[in-house]
Amino acid sequence: MTVRTESPAPINLHVLDHITKTTATLDSWLVDWHDHLGWAPPSYRTDPMAEAASALRANLPWAAEHHPAIADFMNEVTDLHRTATGLLDPAARPRRIGTCPTALDDSEPCGAPLRYVPGSAAITCGWCGAVWDPLDLAALVQATSPE
Ligand SMILES: [Zn+2]
Repeated sequence: MTVRTESPAPINLHVLDHITKTTATLDSWLVDWHDHLGWAPPSYRTDPMAEAASALRANLPWAAEHHPAIADFMNEVTDLHRTATGLLDPAARPRRIGTCPTALDDSEPCGAPLRYVPGSAAITCGWCGAVWDPLDLAALVQATSPE
């Protein structure tokens, strides 16, 4: 008889919570897409999260063209991805670094929140699409910040 003296690996409850949330979110979108397409509700064999993700990916071209809430879908998936990245590799978690200083037509700054992913070569504004070199942006944000 062997006696275990080591404790089992700790379970990260935040990861389990995120898997549950991700599975529920992807499933609800897939149910919605099936409904829009007039298909029977989805069913899963072994891994609902992976199977829902695969089915959503396969139907993304249709959704991009026809689904009325595709922007909401993209935002939710982006949030899920950002959280997963932060849980799996906290050092790679995107950091909010300020707001976009790009001057728009009315000369007001764009103002979108900008995030920097450590190690990435560029920062892209999600609102106006401006692409920045992280060092140039840091200098510009510093120069244009109110005193
Ligand atoms: Zn911008």
